[in-house]
Amino acid sequence: EAAGVSKHFTVTNSVGSSATVRAVENASIRLVPGRITAVVGESGSGKTTLARLLARFYEPTSGEILLDGNTVSDGRSVQKQYRKDVQLIFQDPFGSLNSLHRVRHNLERALSLHHEKLSRAEREARMITLLERVSLSPAREFLDKFPHELSGGQRQRVVIARALAVGPRVLLGDEPISMLDVSIRLEMLNLLNELCREDGLAMLYITHDIASARYLCDDIVVMYAGQMVEAGPKDEIISRPQHPYTKLLVESSPDPHRDTTVDRDEIFAAADELGEPPSLIDPPSGCRFHPRCPLAMEQCLTTAPPRVQLDSGRWADCWLHDAGRADELSEHSMTE
Ligand code: SF4
Repeated sequence: EAAGVSKHFTVTNSVGSSATVRAVENASIRLVPGRITAVVGESGSGKTTLARLLARFYEPTSGEILLDGNTVSDGRSVQKQYRKDVQLIFQDPFGSLNSLHRVRHNLERALSLHHEKLSRAEREARMITLLERVSLSPAREFLDKFPHELSGGQRQRVVIARALAVGPRVLLGDEPISMLDVSIRLEMLNLLNELCREDGLAMLYITHDIASARYLCDDIVVMYAGQMVEAGPKDEIISRPQHPYTKLLVESSPDPHRDTTVDRDEIFAAADELGEPPSLIDPPSGCRFHPRCPLAMEQCLTTAPPRVQLDSGRWADCWLHDAGRADELSEHSMTE
C-alpha cells in the first residue's frame, strides 16, 4: 500500500541551475491479493515512479509504503524480506537479464538469494517447474540457453519465472508487454492473469494503454501529471468515466465492442495521440489537466479540484462534480 506518497527529484542542467521534478504527488493505492490493479497514464504521468516507490527502489519524499498495514522501514532484514515479497517486472526484457549468463544462472541467483537451504537437486527441480509454469518447454533446454538465444516474449517469460522464484506476494509489472511483439502481448496478459488468480498474488499493472488494462485488470487508477485523478472498478471506469482525462483515454482507445473491424492485436498496438503532457517541473496551476480540458471552468485554472467520492470504491478529482455539471461528461466528446 502507498499512503499519500510523493516523490520529488532535483535535476541540474548544464549551466548548474537546479529544479524540482514533482514526479508523484500525494498518491495512495492499495493492492489486494488475487486482484489486479492497473495504473494507466501517458508517459510523464508518474506511473513508473510509483511502481519504483512501491518496489522501494526509491525512498518517498513524503508519505509511506506499507505491507500488511505496517510501515516498511529501512532496516536491512525488513528490506530483504520486502524484496522477496514484492517483485518488479520491468518493461525491457532485453535489459532485465544478465546477458553473459545462461537462464539457469539467472534463475539460480534468485533462488539462492531467497531460498538458501535448497539443495542443488531441489533448486534444479524448482527451476524446471518455474519454466514450465511460464510455458517455456522443454524447460531443460531453456535452462541452458543464453538470453540472446531467446525471443522477446521468451525473455519476458524468464523474467517472470525469476520474479516467481523468490515466492512473492506482490507482483509489480511496469509496462511488461509494451516492448513485446504485438502478436504475443495477449498471451503474456493471459499468463499474468493466470499467475495472479492461481497464486493469489496482488498485482499492479502499469500501462499507457487502457485497452490492455480493460482486458487484464479488476480496478483502474488513472494518473495524470504525477497525480491520481480517478479510480474505480474497471467496467465502471471504462463505461462511465468521471474525469475528462479518463474519458479522453477511453475515447482514444479502440473498443472491440464498439469497432468490430479492429482485431485484438490492433487494439493492443494502438498508440495514443493525446497531445503533450505538462512539465512536472512547473506543472499548470489549479487542475493540472486544465490546459487540455474542453470543460475547464474558471476555478480549474487556480484551485486544485476536490476529491469527490462517487459510488463505492469510485472517486474522481474534478470540479465538474462539485459544480453539478458531471452530466456534461457523457454529453461531450473529448477527442473532437
Ligand atoms: Fe477539466 Fe476542471 Fe475537471 Fe480539471 S477540474 S478535469 S480542468 S473540468
